[in-house]
Amino acid sequence: QLGNTAKKLNMKIYLVGGIVRDIILGRKNLDIDILVEGDAIKLAYEFAKENGFVFHKFEEFMTAQIKTKDNIKLDFATARKEIYEYPGAYPKVEKATLREDLFRRDFTINTLAIDITEENFGILLDYFYGYQDIRNKKIRVLHELSFIEDPIRIFRALRFAGRFGFKLGSHTEKLLKVAIQQNFIKVAPEGRINLELNLTFNEENVIEILFLMDEYKLLNHLIKYFVLNDFRKKVLEKIRDNILYFELIFNKKADKSIIYLLGLLYHLPLEIATEFLEKYYFEKAFKSFEEFYYLKDKINENLKNSEIYEYIKGITLETKIFLISYLPENLSKRILDILNKEKEKFITGKDLISLGLKPSPKFSKIQTEIFKKYLDNEIKDKKQALEYIKQK
Ligand code: ATP
Repeated sequence: QLGNTAKKLNMKIYLVGGIVRDIILGRKNLDIDILVEGDAIKLAYEFAKENGFVFHKFEEFMTAQIKTKDNIKLDFATARKEIYEYPGAYPKVEKATLREDLFRRDFTINTLAIDITEENFGILLDYFYGYQDIRNKKIRVLHELSFIEDPIRIFRALRFAGRFGFKLGSHTEKLLKVAIQQNFIKVAPEGRINLELNLTFNEENVIEILFLMDEYKLLNHLIKYFVLNDFRKKVLEKIRDNILYFELIFNKKADKSIIYLLGLLYHLPLEIATEFLEKYYFEKAFKSFEEFYYLKDKINENLKNSEIYEYIKGITLETKIFLISYLPENLSKRILDILNKEKEKFITGKDLISLGLKPSPKFSKIQTEIFKKYLDNEIKDKKQALEYIKQK
């Protein structure tokens, strides 16, 4: 049907980018990107009008988006050239052919297109050997200056490599190393680096990607005094496991970026960590950093469970998950045990009412007091707890 609308308007349309790559890889991808040789806004508008879909346009970028009735999103872009006025800048755009549009892309694996006009429907167009690179598991740039033109591609190269288990092509690897060594990321806008890091922290293979970023010294260039040793690598791995554990056991979804930022920065003085967070707009992590730096030397073996509980009960979910990943195993286990017990809701308001008490703000004080005794094994079970309250 879309092919029909395009034909009426005498335009050519192609499925492009990540979705084509992922079709070949057999991976799920719900981002449908349609490239138009012609006017993408006009085509999307006509198609939306014919079908009663929701339509939005972005004139400045020559793009449009429509949402179908069953909530499928289609992104339309006018085939265009991009001109970077200086390395790292947001590019200026101009109309172009399909091939020119594909040439401005980051890696060959992202340059494949599938023709979806009526007469050629389903034909794969591969101008830059993208298919071969997908099969050979290779990340390759399209030209020598790619990383310098847009240093964000350094991050993207390692993100795709880590995500798919691909290797950098040997020439691409050399270009990437030079770009990092020459500190080209310095000219990338901090906002774009923030976006890239957020995407990385939310990737399934986040650890593989962070290790690659370390291996290629990208993290060193990004974070002052950064060193990733074996212990810190283990902490990062434990973060991944604990995020999953909290989702499954406590049904709680944490902000992964904050926890991985703690994992990367915790060995640095708070001032240096804060400087990084400010520079790359991660203010959302401030609270957890303050909590962790305050707590890290306070929680130790010699504390009673109730004392540990007192320290952790009000802190953010992200700090909790990080603490559990960072502290020695026996302490982490104790904290997890405390949190599991807290989840059980040992003594409820109903229990107190059943003892003849009138609901009042005092309830939560009593509940905390009893819960602490339970944590310290001074009270063994609910029966004993109710007995204790009655006596008091
Ligand atoms: P993902 O699965 O992460 O969404 P994607 O390939 O769809 O992967 P997007 O970030 O959505 O990635 O970008 C869409 C397309 O735009 C990419 O396939 C790529 O060709 C191109 N692109 C994105 N960022 C850049 C960049 N910095 N330089 C060149 N091309 C880029």
